[in-house]
Amino acid sequence: MSTLAYIGLGANLGDARQTIAAAIDALRQSSGILTLKQAPLYSSDPVDAQGPSFINTVVAIDTTLEPLSLLDRLQAIEQEHGRERPYRNAPRTLDLDLLLYGTFAIETPRLSVPHPRMHQRAFVLRPLQDLSPALQLAQGSFATLLARCQDQKLDRLVN
Ligand code: AMP
Repeated sequence: MSTLAYIGLGANLGDARQTIAAAIDALRQSSGILTLKQAPLYSSDPVDAQGPSFINTVVAIDTTLEPLSLLDRLQAIEQEHGRERPYRNAPRTLDLDLLLYGTFAIETPRLSVPHPRMHQRAFVLRPLQDLSPALQLAQGSFATLLARCQDQKLDRLVN
C-alpha cells in the first residue's frame, strides 16, 4: 500500500534551479517512491533565512516509505547536494521538507507532520494549490491562507 505525500523543495545558493532539478531526479529514482508529480517553479524572497532569492516548488509522491525512512531519504538528498549549515538559518543549497504524509499527524523529535509552518508560507501554499487545488488543510482554505501571506513576494517562473 502506498501513501500520497507532499514534499517542499527550496534552494537559494549556486545554481538553485539545477539543484532543485537534481533533487527531483534523485527523488524519482528513490526506491519506495512510485510516482512523482511536480508543481511549477517559483521564486521567493527569504522568510526566516538569509541570502539571495529562493527557488521553490512542491512535489506530490506516492510512496511505500514510512515517514522516518522518507525523512532519511530527504536528508540524504540534501547532503548529496552539498548543504552546509554553519549556523542556524544560514543560507542553504537545498532544503527538503516533508509537508504532508497522507492524512497522518506525526509528532516525534525528528519529524512534525503536517509541517508546522507550511500554512504560513506562500512559497509552499501556491505550488501545493497548483498540484492539488481541492486539498483541505486543517488551518483553512488556500484562499484564506494565501490572503494572510500577501506580504510575501512570490513569482511564478516560466519553466
Ligand atoms: P530545517 O533546517 O528547517 O530544514 O530543519 C531540519 C530539521 O527539522 C531536521 O532536524 C528534521 O529532523 C526536522 N524536521 C521536523 N519536521 C520536519 C519535516 N516535516 N520535514 C523536514 N524536516 C523536519
